[in-house]
Amino acid sequence: MDPQWNDVFSVEDTSKKWRRIAARFDWSGLRCGCDQGARHVPSSFAALVAAQTEEEADGAGLRNHIEVQSMLFESAVPVVSMILAALDEELLTDAARWGLLYLLMVLVLGESEHVEVLSGRPDLELECRDAARDGIPLLYEELRKERVRGRAEYAICILEALGEDRDELIAIRRDI
Ligand SMILES: [Zn+2]
Repeated sequence: MDPQWNDVFSVEDTSKKWRRIAARFDWSGLRCGCDQGARHVPSSFAALVAAQTEEEADGAGLRNHIEVQSMLFESAVPVVSMILAALDEELLTDAARWGLLYLLMVLVLGESEHVEVLSGRPDLELECRDAARDGIPLLYEELRKERVRGRAEYAICILEALGEDRDELIAIRRDI
């Protein structure tokens, strides 16, 4: 095991909700777009959460892994819950918050990659949306605040994918 992977389960970090969620899954057994399995995903996620710059927040190890050109792999589903936990709980840089919201938008708007369809998971986008519904209040908050340019647009896209009314979302956006 590499040190970053061990770090995910280190005792002092169990206070972080996203790490507790990550610890519930056998990542080695989940498919990833890189064909190596999703074992690296928690440490890639830790890097995104800790991102200080836009470059660091581009989702390395997640984009083109849990999704490839918006085609989803099964490892995307637990990441949705991890994103919401991190948005809710972590002290994030604006870059990290932007990267997390962007990734969440890609996951709820994607569709199952062909290999997932063949493996019995044809509706991964629906699984991602179900996982994201817990975060609806948080996403409305994100929409109202918009501390970083463009993030409200991501929140609108995500909330619309979750079945929220687009006209109402736009109206909230206008009132900011
Ligand atoms: Zn991968």
